[in-house]
Amino acid sequence: MSARFTDWVSTADAVRATSGKLAKLAALGAYLPSLDEADLEIAARLFAGVPFPRTDERVLAVGWRALLDSVIGLTGATAEDVSAAYQTHADLGDATADLALRSGRAAADPPLHLSDVHDAFEKIAATRGVAPKRLLLDALLVRATPGELRYLIKVMSGEPRIGVREGLLEDAIARAFGRDREAVGRAHMLGGDIGVTAVQAKRDTLDEARFVHFAPIGMMLATPVLELEEVERRFTAPYVVDDKYDGVRTQVHKDGDRVELYSRTFDRVTDRFPELLAPLRAISGTFVLDAEVLGLDPGGRAIPFTEFQHRLGRKAVGEDLLRTLPASLVIFDILERDGVPLLDAPLSARLAVLATLSLQPPLRFARSKEIGATGEALIAALDAEFAAARERGNEGLMVKDPRSPYRPGRRGMEWLKVKRALRTLDVVVTAVEWGHGKRRHVLSDYTFAVRDAEAYRNVGKAYSGLTDKEISEMTEHFKARTVKDFGRSRLVVPDTVIEVAFDQVQPSGRHASGFALRFPRIVRLRPDKPVSEIDTLDTVRSLSLPGVRPDTDLG
Ligand code: AMP
Repeated sequence: MSARFTDWVSTADAVRATSGKLAKLAALGAYLPSLDEADLEIAARLFAGVPFPRTDERVLAVGWRALLDSVIGLTGATAEDVSAAYQTHADLGDATADLALRSGRAAADPPLHLSDVHDAFEKIAATRGVAPKRLLLDALLVRATPGELRYLIKVMSGEPRIGVREGLLEDAIARAFGRDREAVGRAHMLGGDIGVTAVQAKRDTLDEARFVHFAPIGMMLATPVLELEEVERRFTAPYVVDDKYDGVRTQVHKDGDRVELYSRTFDRVTDRFPELLAPLRAISGTFVLDAEVLGLDPGGRAIPFTEFQHRLGRKAVGEDLLRTLPASLVIFDILERDGVPLLDAPLSARLAVLATLSLQPPLRFARSKEIGATGEALIAALDAEFAAARERGNEGLMVKDPRSPYRPGRRGMEWLKVKRALRTLDVVVTAVEWGHGKRRHVLSDYTFAVRDAEAYRNVGKAYSGLTDKEISEMTEHFKARTVKDFGRSRLVVPDTVIEVAFDQVQPSGRHASGFALRFPRIVRLRPDKPVSEIDTLDTVRSLSLPGVRPDTDLG
């Protein structure tokens, strides 16, 4: 006989009632070992706040409307009562428990057992249609006490505040059955179902946990680094240096003919990128890849994320979008290959396995190289790589330790994301241009200059960073400050000061100043600053890196 749900509820209440970790662990520790395997599996999942594990694609698909209607029917509350209770608790489960208590209703017989809850969830998930689902929902809820309603509604409405974090639950399972904490975490990470992990802990078979395809695992995260000098302080050479692509993180699983793509929140996003599936299926064997989805232009340069984003909101992708904004997959790591988990293998070994995959477009490997330099040579090498990555339309660099394992869901010092400190200059606008696309009716592109004794010397042109409202105000402003109108562009009185950020200063034949800012963007307007105080050509010269090749195509 399955255990009573009410005992689970008392445990959950006890866990919620205290903020102390030890007290929470004690409550769970007293309860979990009292359960048989079938109940333990259900109970652990419920503590995690989910009806089904992440390895399971089933969803309850019970809308809030249905839940609300059922609660109203059950408690006799009016819609206003529900709304007021929700205002008070900001949680549908707590609001329902409150309403149920106040209504004084008694739970119908027979009392709920853990298996009843589990069976009801399965039936609801398997049933289509609002009305049939509602019948099953009512049949479950009518048997629930106010305390039981609280948690049933929390789980069904996707409310995460059950009070037990994943790490705490793993801890509790390890203690309850006297197992190693790391072993529990690892089994859970591999298997993706805390219910199964709990049973393995009880049976002492945690080491049997295997990598499960189509159960996405946490993605390894990176620590930001602002100065190139910082890299060497984090770990020693050699360094794996990748381009940092600005797209969406995606984990790809393949087994047999089945291919699935998962987002960093573990959502299945396979259908959003249909053009990637055939090329992925064409790679033989099984695998799990870590990659970034983004748009590349025909020359292989990344298109700005803001543009590619138009595809992301759509669940179904039409022919139009497939043509105008095709997706590419840039792969930078491999976590499993042909049944062999690679999480514990060093990055260098994983990359060697990755390199054996044969990819066809639009799949490609991330640009990656190993740099063994130290000291100034390292800084120079990273600096050149950074500039080259930016040139390819990418955000910057990822610097990784080739000796490091893949640590799911962890942000450590073994992966560094290099975002260089923003350098900024105060400059004056000398000319403006009408924009493109939705900005074609506003003066949105500004050419700007620094001071050189009594003259102004242009050093760049920027067209982003201001809000639409600011741009439209600035359009009126510059219309009134126009000295000469060339149609597309206008010379303006040089007295509007702005602050621009940029990656680098480069020698350039394009401007009379002899320099151009690389990737300039407008940080803000500086009406507070007189033009006599803007930055000078000397400053620009001092910021320019010696030995950087002239570039004619920038700013
Ligand atoms: P963060 O998520 O803020 O820790 O920054 C790292 C993110 O950069 C990852 O989540 C990926 O989405 C993205 N990324 C782009 N290129 C790479 C790469 N070559 N290696 C790892 N992550 C990358």
